[in-house]
Amino acid sequence: MQEHDLSYILNHLGEEDRARHRGAVAPPIYQSSIFAFETVARMRAAFGDELDNTLYTRGNNPTVEILRKKLAALEGAEDALLFGSGAAAIAAGVIAGLGAGDHVICVQKPYSWTRTLVRDLLGRFGVSHSFVDARDTAQIEAALTPRTRLIVLESPNTMTYEQQDLAAVAALARARGIRTLLDNSYATPLHQRAIALGIDLVAHSATKYLNGHSDVVAGVLCGSKTLIREVFQGPYMTLGAMLSPHDAWLLIRGLRTLPLRMRQIAATTARVIGFLQSHAKVEQVWYPHDAGDAQHELSQRQTSGASGLLSFTIRCESTLAVERFCDALQRFLMTVSWGGYESLLFPVAAVYPPDTCVVAARAGQVPVNLVRLSIGLEEPEVLIADLAQALDRV
Ligand SMILES: *Cc1c(COP(=O)(O)O)cnc(C)c1O
Repeated sequence: MQEHDLSYILNHLGEEDRARHRGAVAPPIYQSSIFAFETVARMRAAFGDELDNTLYTRGNNPTVEILRKKLAALEGAEDALLFGSGAAAIAAGVIAGLGAGDHVICVQKPYSWTRTLVRDLLGRFGVSHSFVDARDTAQIEAALTPRTRLIVLESPNTMTYEQQDLAAVAALARARGIRTLLDNSYATPLHQRAIALGIDLVAHSATKYLNGHSDVVAGVLCGSKTLIREVFQGPYMTLGAMLSPHDAWLLIRGLRTLPLRMRQIAATTARVIGFLQSHAKVEQVWYPHDAGDAQHELSQRQTSGASGLLSFTIRCESTLAVERFCDALQRFLMTVSWGGYESLLFPVAAVYPPDTCVVAARAGQVPVNLVRLSIGLEEPEVLIADLAQALDRV
């Protein structure tokens, strides 16, 4: 596999043949479901290898293929597949190698739909699971059974930022022929090179930082050519959760500024955290890149840069005070998701009524006075002033 520098990947990889498109600098959107052949021999060849030929857009499409090359290179992987959502990418990677009777180990606090996939959907097809506190690699080891086929990781997770020692878990799994899958959405491929650490499959919700503009839902799964081909022949083609060429084009555009966005977001987040930590009404800040974080040593060793998603708990008597704080914010949009150009607020505990199944899944996982912020590209002073006026309402 050839190593390219970052700006080559973002600006040129997969787009080298511009003469084919009369020199167009932005790649065309191949808005075509099918691709025609001039000879039977060429069509036969395409049928023989749908992953690397263009025949039908559920399998491969030239615009999507540009993005595929870029994201594989960013992750340091041999190949990648694009999906219509991060959830689809994770589901495809998880189910690809599993059968009835197999056992899966998963981190204790994964993304909510990863939890549902492992606990409910796999269970219906005879795959058992264990959720473990994987901050301690020994707990993964203790949960192994002779039928363990897959370890599902998410480091850091996106509410409490728990991390796993990826190199240690990968070594443990490889020695036993067990596959590993990491949800790397939080750290981005810029800051956490999981394939190099020995992880087999790396998934992202490309909806978040990779696209960065809150206008596309997408996912990507990266791995070796062999593994990606296995996923392609299995869940990718059968479930059909592919990314549209138009959304791939938007993602190619969003991706061009990923390093710039991440640099700005990290700098602003450091300022916001400094403000929150010095504020009397803030109880605790949760952020893996903070020196006070319990796993800070691991994030220093395992990641090379910071993200802009953080949580904090508000010192207050009731959740009504949390609601007053959230309602008072002006420059943070109140919504789900994260990773865009704009700052967001997710009042985690306050929006889940206690009797919903979602909160049952989260029971005991997050404190009721916890809110999550996604820091965007606004001026730090603007965000800090907004947080200050809203904390005054608590
Ligand atoms: C959002 C998210 C997902 C799911 O991605 P979608 O693109 O929304 O399907 C998976 N993992 C993490 C950590 C996420 O934040």
